[in-house]
Amino acid sequence: MKKLALHWKIIIGMILGIIFGFIMNSVGGKGFVSDWISPFGTIFINLLKLIAVPLILASLIKGISDLKDISKIKTMGLRTIGIYVTTTLVAIIIGLSIVNTIKPGDGMSQNTIEKIKSKYANDAGVADKLTKANAQKDAGPLRALVDIFPSNIFKALGNAKMLQVIFFALFVGICLLLIPEEKAKPLVNFFDSLNEVVMKMVDLIMLFAPYAVFALMANVIIAFDDTEILLKLLNYALCVVGGLILMIGFYLILVSFYTKKSPLWFLKEISPAQLLAFSTSSSAATLPVTMERVEEHLGVDKEVSGFVLPVGATVNMDGTSLYQGIAAVFIMQVIWPEGLTFTNQLVIIATALLASIGSAAVPSAGMVMLVIVLESIGFPAELLPIGLALIFAVDRPLDMCRTVVNVTGDATVSMMVAKSLGKLHKPQPKEWDDNYEKV
Ligand code: ASP
Repeated sequence: MKKLALHWKIIIGMILGIIFGFIMNSVGGKGFVSDWISPFGTIFINLLKLIAVPLILASLIKGISDLKDISKIKTMGLRTIGIYVTTTLVAIIIGLSIVNTIKPGDGMSQNTIEKIKSKYANDAGVADKLTKANAQKDAGPLRALVDIFPSNIFKALGNAKMLQVIFFALFVGICLLLIPEEKAKPLVNFFDSLNEVVMKMVDLIMLFAPYAVFALMANVIIAFDDTEILLKLLNYALCVVGGLILMIGFYLILVSFYTKKSPLWFLKEISPAQLLAFSTSSSAATLPVTMERVEEHLGVDKEVSGFVLPVGATVNMDGTSLYQGIAAVFIMQVIWPEGLTFTNQLVIIATALLASIGSAAVPSAGMVMLVIVLESIGFPAELLPIGLALIFAVDRPLDMCRTVVNVTGDATVSMMVAKSLGKLHKPQPKEWDDNYEKV
């Protein structure tokens, strides 16, 4: 077991977790899984979240102060945002092309619609998404911008407000460049050392990953109860998964053409982060692992990854936007075909872009923002609970898949930005990273 690469250990943990979940489902052991197994998954996610904020703070402040040149920060910022917006648009267009060609919503029988409606339209999960979407909508058009600027950094850190922490770290990093070097040095050294400590914490937490994914997967499996409805939604789910696979293919092309690296090498090195994204459904929880893989295994300099990855985890969600495009059109095909106009599809492109930027990097956030996408095209309010009910049963597995794409997209862009700035180096994985004898 010790000699096995980390991603294989995680895959074995996942498969065993799935098998265990099915066995527990069939012997009536759901309660055992939720009481005795699932808490270990929660502990793992808590640990990852625990280190995400100090990691962003330390790596970004250290990274920016290493850039030595303020104009480089501007170039990096503009390139990052430019590539993020472009890849997200590609994702939405792929999604819309697939759903309009395959039309998974056409031909769903009235009987199935009624069944899904009676099962999920009044479900607490659906109501919760609608309430959250309303809260988001009522906040006003410039709210998202205002929210980037914290009035209290301790609150921002305490509530893990990613964009606020990024803003503060950038601000500190830039000011460190503007003061005399001997005054800046102690603080830079402090954050450098904090960064090393947190990276070591990632390594130690990852020792626990294969067991944690076992718990997380078992917990996902016991939540599936209605296979009949799942099968009815198979066409829709396959459209989303097919689109997400195409998106991964698009990243591999970008990696291979732009950075001249082998796509298979890229996939192998980033795979532990992808597997965790799949098991946790949260780009934010996966962030520390993404950073570790990108810096130590893909060779991206800290000053690039420290900026590109936290920003990406918060605003760049290609998988989520692709899913939102497909889900919106699928729902219209089933219950509001008169809304399927060309103009509405153009509006979906714009709103899915904004909605994916606004989606939090946590499980099922994409579904909350889907409500806003639907409202932007005048989707009848009384049909909203039915619309969400239609896709609710398969949302979790699709969330797991789209989170993989969100994380892979961030890693791809960090390599492209690093390459364009001459900050992509020969990777130097720590000798014991995949092979922990020394820990
Ligand atoms: N779970 C996704 C993420 O964290 C967001 C979503 O699409 O729901 O990236």
